[in-house]
Order: sequence, then C-alpha cells, then structure tokens
Amino acid sequence: MNSAATPAAADLADNLARIRERVAAAVARRGPGPAPRLIGVSKRHPLAAITEARAAGLEDFGENYAQEFRDKAAALENDPPRWHFIGALQRNKVKYVVGKALIHTVDTRSILDAIEARAAREELLQEVLVEVNLGGESHKAGVSEAELPALLDRFAATPHVRCVGLMLIPPPAPPEVTRGVFARLSALRGQLAEEGRPGVDLEHLSMGMSSDFEVAIEEGATLVRVGTAIFGPRPY
Ligand SMILES: *Cc1c(COP(=O)(O)O)cnc(C)c1O
Repeated sequence: MNSAATPAAADLADNLARIRERVAAAVARRGPGPAPRLIGVSKRHPLAAITEARAAGLEDFGENYAQEFRDKAAALENDPPRWHFIGALQRNKVKYVVGKALIHTVDTRSILDAIEARAAREELLQEVLVEVNLGGESHKAGVSEAELPALLDRFAATPHVRCVGLMLIPPPAPPEVTRGVFARLSALRGQLAEEGRPGVDLEHLSMGMSSDFEVAIEEGATLVRVGTAIFGPRPY
C-alpha cells in the first residue's frame, strides 16, 4: 500500500490538535448540548495512521470498505478503538461488521434484516444509524424522508438491532445550502424522537466531514466524520 500521503506522526498530531480547536469553537457557537465525538475517517490509509492518531488521543475511527475494515479490525482485535462503519454495506458483508462497529449506513429494510439475522446468530445487540437522503438526486444512498418512518417502524421487529440516530451525506453544495440540509435533518430527528418508536432512540446525528464539520456541529451533529483534514489526502 502506498502510504506516501499519510502524514508523519508529528503532523498528524498537529492536524488533530487544530481540528479539536475548531470542534471546540463550533461547540461554543452552538451553545449547550452534548460534546460531539470526532471520528477519524481512516479509509485507505495504512494501519500505522490509526496507531499514530490513537497515540495522539483519537478514540473513534471510521472505515468505508467492509474487507478493509475486517482486516484493520482483526489487526487491532486485542485493543480495538471505537469503530464506525460509514460505507455502503452489502448483505453478504454484514458479517465483517456486526458486533465490531457502530454501523452508520442502514437505509433499507433488507440490510436491516440482514444485520438482525447476523446479530441474532452472534447473540448480541447491534447499534446502527439510519442513513437519510434529503433530496440529493446525485446521491443514491439513504432512505428518503417519505420512507423513513416505515424503516424506523421496522426496528420493532429487530430485537438484536437498535437505532441510535440518523446519518446524512449531503449532496455537494455551497456551505449555506449544506447548513440548511443539516438543519432539516436535525429538525426531523426532533420530530421523530417525539413520536417515539420501539427499538429507536435518536440520540445521534452523524453529519459533517472535513469541509463542513463546523457547520454540522452548529446544527446539532453529535458524530462528525473527518478524514482528509486529519490524515491528509487518501493514498489512492
Ligand atoms: C470519506 C468519508 C468521510 C470523510 O471525508 P473527508 O472529506 O475526507 O473528511 C466522511 N463520511 C463518509 C461517509 C465518507 O465516505
């Protein structure tokens, strides 16, 4: 694996310190609420990047590809970080992820049922987020706002899977447009939380990446997924 683009440990610690300052400033602008967790998106970066970021105090890591996640999780099995699976998940890859990571990308009943089957087999309770698509035609992943309530209803029938929040990847747009999308997800979360559903506790909002995590925090993100701004450009 070409790791030329992965920053040296000192640079990585520096990047992290700067991101933490920006997170804190965004939290201060937002006002009271839970401290967001910073997820370092380490996809395509070597294991060494994760080890160095952990040494600098980062606890949460996000991966997108099931096999890459499987291999990295296996390598760190004895002392795992807090893992997040943030990529598209196929039914036949669910086995690599269940029981090992918070899954951010449940967007169909079919994938939810596959996770339930696997979690039941492993006799564990899997926490997931539901990925929502708020009108981004360019982006196919995510359940539409119209179909979201029915998908959330399904958690009543999945005793081994609990929904702990919503996740969003906004369509590419200028920051002020993106802010509106984040605000809409935040409002939707509030509305759905009031309705209440078995197996659903909408504690988390996973939104915001390198280019827009501050705006996301201002609009209520509890989990921000930052890759490039911590680890530099991806090696491939
Ligand atoms: C890659 C990725 C990120 C991180 O993106 P950066 O722009 O590098 O911060 C965040 N979320 C998801 C779902 C991703 O696939």
